[in-house]
Amino acid sequence: MGRKIDYNQNPFIVIWEVTRACQLKCIHCRADAQLTADPRELSHEEGIKLIDQIYEMDNPMLVFTGGDCMMREDLFELAQYAIKKGMRVSMSPSATPNVTKAKMKQAKDIGLSRWGFSLDGPTPETHDYFRGTPGAFDLTLEKIKYLNELDMPLQINTVISRYNYDSLEEMSRLVGELGAVMWYIFLLVPTGRGQLDACISPAEHEKVFRWLYQLSKTAPFDIKTTAAQHYRRVVLQEKMRDHLIEKGEIHYEDSITTDFASLHDGLKRAPKGVNDGNGFIFVSHIGEVMPSGLLPIVCGNVRERSLADIYRNSPVLQAIRQPDIYKGKCGVCEYNHICGGSRSRTYAVTGDYLESEPYCVYIPQALRQKEKAFQQ
Ligand code: SF4
Repeated sequence: MGRKIDYNQNPFIVIWEVTRACQLKCIHCRADAQLTADPRELSHEEGIKLIDQIYEMDNPMLVFTGGDCMMREDLFELAQYAIKKGMRVSMSPSATPNVTKAKMKQAKDIGLSRWGFSLDGPTPETHDYFRGTPGAFDLTLEKIKYLNELDMPLQINTVISRYNYDSLEEMSRLVGELGAVMWYIFLLVPTGRGQLDACISPAEHEKVFRWLYQLSKTAPFDIKTTAAQHYRRVVLQEKMRDHLIEKGEIHYEDSITTDFASLHDGLKRAPKGVNDGNGFIFVSHIGEVMPSGLLPIVCGNVRERSLADIYRNSPVLQAIRQPDIYKGKCGVCEYNHICGGSRSRTYAVTGDYLESEPYCVYIPQALRQKEKAFQQ
């Protein structure tokens, strides 16, 4: 996967919301999913055409999402078509009675790379409350058992919010016990049914990121984050701190206040992470193209223009791929090309996708220098 990708030309990952139908009623649902499918949903033929267009964009990773993607009858046909072309495909269906062991076996047999399940708390109380459905926790654990029996790689997706912030240690132990290869952490964005008062504070975001970094050193699973671009800044800061501590150049206590950003000379050369509309693109159930499912600005529709044309030429997407034009502190931050803040959260909270990430505590060096000059 070490190939060089120009995110101005092609995304690294495409999320396709194959349907909005879902039997669950999750309290933070981005899609405000409905029990039945929208009659305007992309047809099977349109789906095949879309897969061809995605493949032609340098074969990015393809993720089927929903709603509950299992509510789409031709799901496995679509997946098989993509996999036969040589695409890497994964999906995260809702844990409902629709997910049978036979379906999981079918997914494994056609070559699905990984299966993701949502688990938002370490107990039935926390998870079922989140999912708005009693019994969801037990059902998820039962499905995970099937997956493990089939030896299919498991990803666990967790939305971090006010409701589970205090049980993250316990949650991480459960993720390990369940044999997950990946813990996919999503920091709540207040959009759809996701509410602002359910978000953890900026300082708590920072605490979670520092905890995650320590966890990542010993956990038996990989950790990936979504809507948490500033985790990359924390990882760089922490790595720098560890390195200096290892070399005995500074004491740990001093490291808490040391300005590591100024010590790191290669930030702009760091591996490039994705952001909404920048290496990452979302296609809705009716073909609308958006920077992400959490940043619902329609940039075009695949029924009218090709995905490549929309991705490369939409003025919104072109702007979002230029961190130096962001407003406020993100625009001048020395980390903005590797971080840039979550554009989804910024839009959800401020209504402007170019504003600063409102849930980051970091003060960029340029602003600190300006403040210092002002005080002199
Ligand atoms: S100020 Fe913006 S770009 Fe800088 S670390 Fe925070 S979120 Fe990232």
